Amino acid sequence: MGGWRDNLIDIEPYAPGEQIRVPGLIKLNTNENPFPPSPAAASAAGSFDAKSLMRYPDPDAGELVGILAAKAGVSEDMVVAGNGSDEILAFAFRAFFNSSRPVLFPDVTYSFYPVWCRLFGISYEEIPLRDDFHMYAADYERENGGVVIANPNAPTGIAEGLGFFRNLLDANPDSIVIVDEAYVDFGADSALTLIGEYDNLFVARTFSKSRSLAGLRLGFGYGHADLVVSVNAVKNSFNSYAVDSFAMAVGAEAARDDRYYRERTAELVRVRDSFTESMRGLGFIVYDSSANFVFVSHPGVDAGDMYGWLKGRDILVRWFDKPRIRDHLRITIGLAEEMDALFTAISTYMKEKNIR
Ligand SMILES: *Cc1c(COP(=O)(O)O)cnc(C)c1O
Repeated sequence: MGGWRDNLIDIEPYAPGEQIRVPGLIKLNTNENPFPPSPAAASAAGSFDAKSLMRYPDPDAGELVGILAAKAGVSEDMVVAGNGSDEILAFAFRAFFNSSRPVLFPDVTYSFYPVWCRLFGISYEEIPLRDDFHMYAADYERENGGVVIANPNAPTGIAEGLGFFRNLLDANPDSIVIVDEAYVDFGADSALTLIGEYDNLFVARTFSKSRSLAGLRLGFGYGHADLVVSVNAVKNSFNSYAVDSFAMAVGAEAARDDRYYRERTAELVRVRDSFTESMRGLGFIVYDSSANFVFVSHPGVDAGDMYGWLKGRDILVRWFDKPRIRDHLRITIGLAEEMDALFTAISTYMKEKNIR
């Protein structure tokens, strides 16, 4: 009796950061953008013609794909749009990784990668980041069925240069290399510049971070037309993951409005770099971040304890209770005044606990 329970999927899902809504909460735990979407995107949302929702959306998200292709200077058959880059990445894993050899990614990276591997029955091997938390292409010169790299990496915020990607791609001509560029706009060089040279390169992007649209669920990917055909084949084997009409209308305006987002990103980078200096002044080790968050530790601080202490004061940051990183905190960069409040709270914590 009850033997059907043995047939249930046995999987540990991805654990997203807490989305608690408390008035006055300083929320620096899920790398959302502290600035609102662009006025053009907001106005597209406000003037959206609700009547058009009686029709199914364009299955190919043609308008959006056209804009994204033009911006990247690639043909439209090299672009795929989806409901968040998590969806694009999940479909890409299913589409690209059908070898019996393991897919490689770093041991410290986006924790969704092992979840998709287990969901789809893909074998994988985690390649340790070196002690400096950087990646070295030589570590990826081994039998594999694919490679996945987040650049800048999460949760470290550290970016690798194009030299790393060239070496990685040159060493792995028979594998598909996915570069997850969720945070690229905050300071890394995009692998997109290599896309014409390497047919085995796929670059995933999102509207959630630098475009302030995490709630809209919009992501996209670039790659050789054969890669895009394959991702679309997976996408169209589910029912039915087209980008919805509303997201497409708002996203199209957000994609066009580069100027607004460039200005907001520059402001965020200024706040990030000044917060980094202040934290270093308190004795924290802060990696040079190319993302919209910083990864910090302190020889005298129990990161889990500080996370709980801050949470008790309505400041939410991210603590990963995991090997190699449980003595770190990942702090999303918010508005300047939010970072000031956090810094004041951390200074108080250090005094209270007598840490210097
Ligand atoms: C936020 C994030 C994504 C996905 O974001 P979506 O909201 O699904 O577009 C993908 N990769 C990394 C590393 C991220 O941090």
